Amino acid sequence: MNFRDLNLNTPLYNAIDDLGFTQPTPIQAEAFNVVASGKDMVGIAQTGTGKTFAYMLPILKNLKFSKQDNPRILILVPTRELVVQVVDEIEKLAKYINTRVLGVYGGTNINTQKQAVAQGQDIIVATPGRLYDLAVSRVLQLKSLERLVIDEVDVMLDLGFRHQLINIFDILPERRQNIMFSATMTEDVDDLITDFFTAPQKVSIAISGTPLENIAQTKYSVPNYYTKLNLLVHLLQDAETYNKVLVFVSNKRMADRLFEALDEFFKEELCVIHSNKTQNYRLRSIEQFREGINRVLVATDVMARGLDIDNVSHVFNFDTPDYPENYMHRIGRTGRAEREGQAVVFSTEKEQDSLEKIESLMQMEIPELQIPEEVEISTELIEEERTVIKERNNPTKRKDIDAPGPAFHEKSAKNSKENLGGSYKFKIAAKYKKPKTRGDKNYNKRNKK
Ligand code: AMP
Repeated sequence: MNFRDLNLNTPLYNAIDDLGFTQPTPIQAEAFNVVASGKDMVGIAQTGTGKTFAYMLPILKNLKFSKQDNPRILILVPTRELVVQVVDEIEKLAKYINTRVLGVYGGTNINTQKQAVAQGQDIIVATPGRLYDLAVSRVLQLKSLERLVIDEVDVMLDLGFRHQLINIFDILPERRQNIMFSATMTEDVDDLITDFFTAPQKVSIAISGTPLENIAQTKYSVPNYYTKLNLLVHLLQDAETYNKVLVFVSNKRMADRLFEALDEFFKEELCVIHSNKTQNYRLRSIEQFREGINRVLVATDVMARGLDIDNVSHVFNFDTPDYPENYMHRIGRTGRAEREGQAVVFSTEKEQDSLEKIESLMQMEIPELQIPEEVEISTELIEEERTVIKERNNPTKRKDIDAPGPAFHEKSAKNSKENLGGSYKFKIAAKYKKPKTRGDKNYNKRNKK
């Protein structure tokens, strides 16, 4: 298929030419007519497959010029970094179109964003929390909204945004098109679709769990953290081969630990990103890595998912993810838009089960490499590797050390107060004996008889 088959218009063709794209990616070809038709759509596509343009091409093609201030397109994404990235992509595609695009996210001054909203926008790209705050403040009017895109729904639900999404659905006009993209189909994603979508058409280009074909995968069996570190340092010495390297770890404590250890060897070449870092720090790290100022980026799953960084030569799984989907997300950072990529996974004895789950999801065995002789095999263990005496019901122990930081908790607590749906309505109805919902009305009618 050719871009000409999509019947776009000259401004879009010119932008595509400037970007140097020659043909639509499979998800772009498949999704185009569905999105253009106005039907609800669920797209299963991994990042790196060109899914941002899969929804933006038909949306921009059909977005008429308008002077009205209220946005007509809303794109929700899970992280602030993705807001920046998606806005950037839209601006490239809309280079020759008179469209107003604004990105809004939490952790920054809301007043500046209110002013920008008030100037009038066509497309808003947002994280759910900030979007809701802006809508509640009434500066952002959603009554003219025509299409809602939710990108990376699986990540969004993982991050605990379900409530925020439902709050947002509540304030959107009923007549709208819903478009959703997810890399993996989980039960949570499925529930959301059943509850809020109308007969969505499914567009899927890869079975969830199929690795992109242009990623060469290898694995190493490594006894412990320090040996993993020695092996990584050894490999990274070859700066020519390992020229743009993403190293994934499972949580922020591990990210900091590894960053400090690698800092001794790679100083200026190194940066790190996880949810405890400030917004500016995170954006700077990504930018420096993207531009090649830093050669190695250490990242946690949640932070780096969905990021589109070109030409990543290698993805290292410093630990083996428990959820095979996370492995898929991680390795999807390399081999993007049909460029060759390398993915390497380190697994200890304890991580063998996780590795098996990954291999069985992919229905393939990852070829194994031997640790080079020069690499020192350490016997030293870090705290987590020593035999733990199991504590039961220790109330002070945090369950998930990579759970979103305090900001997320404040937010969700606040939002749960603001959630006036479901149970709150029933509570009020019970208190005032007034039918507040249709459900109650029927119940009252039945009880009168
Ligand atoms: P995404 O999956 O949306 O994150 O996109 C992955 C990368 O592919 C981005 O850098 C896009 O600019 C690029 N891309 C999108 N569409 C095409 C295309 N038709 N041909 C080549 N590259 C593309």
